[in-house]
Amino acid sequence: MQITIEGLSKIYPNGHKALDGISLTINDGMFGLLGPNGAGKSTFMRILVTLMKPTVGKITVDGYDIVKHRKHVRSMLGYLPQDFRFFSSLSTREFLDYAARLAGMKAAKERAETVDRMLEDVGLFEARDRLANRLSGGMKRRLGIAQALINHPKLIIVDEPTTGLDPEERIRFRNLLSAISTQDVIIILSTHIVGDISSTCKNMALLNHGHLAYNGSPDDLVSRTRGKVWLIQASEAQYMEINEKFPVISNIPTNNGWEVQVVADDITGYNGRNIAPNLEHAYVYFMEKNLNQWIAN
Ligand code: ADP
Repeated sequence: MQITIEGLSKIYPNGHKALDGISLTINDGMFGLLGPNGAGKSTFMRILVTLMKPTVGKITVDGYDIVKHRKHVRSMLGYLPQDFRFFSSLSTREFLDYAARLAGMKAAKERAETVDRMLEDVGLFEARDRLANRLSGGMKRRLGIAQALINHPKLIIVDEPTTGLDPEERIRFRNLLSAISTQDVIIILSTHIVGDISSTCKNMALLNHGHLAYNGSPDDLVSRTRGKVWLIQASEAQYMEINEKFPVISNIPTNNGWEVQVVADDITGYNGRNIAPNLEHAYVYFMEKNLNQWIAN
C-alpha cells in the first residue's frame, strides 16, 4: 500500500492558498501529519478522502488516481472526521449496524457478526445498548474508529484523534490505532498535538502555512535538533530579553533568577548548556525555521 502525492496545491475560491506544492510518499503503517491550526491539515485530509479536488497536483492511492478513480478509492477508505456526530436516537450497536449497511454489508447475519466483533475490538461490547450520543468522549472516539473500520479499509484517516480525550483515553485510543496498523494498511493521523505523533508513528510530515516543513521519521527530526536546545540560567534582567529573542519551551523560577529552555542555533552572550532534544523541541525549532524561510521568500 502506498500513497503518492505530487505537487499538490489547493487554492480556495476566495484566493487563499491553503496547500502549496506538497510532494510526499506515504507507505504502510502509521503516518503523522503535524502542524499548527491553519497549517492546511484539514484541507489535505479533505482532498485525500475525495471530498474536495486539488487545484493542482496528483494523488494516487495504491496506484489509483483519486480524482479519476474516486469511487474505487472511496471503497478503500475509512474516515474519522474531527467533528464526528451520532444520531441521537440510536444505540451504540444500532449506530454501528447502520454504518455497516452504509458500507454495503447487506447480509443481516454476517453484518451482525461483523458489528459485534468490531464492538469487542474497540471495547464497546458491554456498552452496545447505550445511546451512542451518551457515551463518554473516549468511547465516542472509539465508536468513531469502529465505523471507520467496519469495511476493512486499507487507508484510514483520523483527524485530530485525541481532541477532548483525557490522558488515559488518549493512550487507549492510540494503542487501538497501533494494533490496526498491520501490514498493507496506512493510517494517517492529523493532529496539532506533538504527543499524538511521538509514540506511534514511524513517519511523519510537518505542515506549516501550506508548506511541507519536514518529511521523515520522528527520530530523525529529533536528532536534527541536537545542539539546538538550551537550558539558560537567566538573571531577572535577562529573562524578558530571552523570552523576546528566542522560541521558549519553558520558564522555571530558581533562587536567583530563571531557568529558561529555548530552541536556537546560537545563544552567545548567555550562560547556558545544551540539553537532549525531544519531539516537542524539534517541532518548535522546525516551525520557527520554516516560518523564517517563508517570510524571507
Ligand atoms: P488546519 O486543519 O491545519 O487547521 P485548514 O486546512 O483548516 O488547516 O486551513 C488552512 C488554511 O485555509 C487556513 O488559513 C484556513 O483559514 C483556510 N481555509 C480553510 N477552509 C477554507 C475555505 N473553505 N475557504 C477559504 N479558506 C479556507
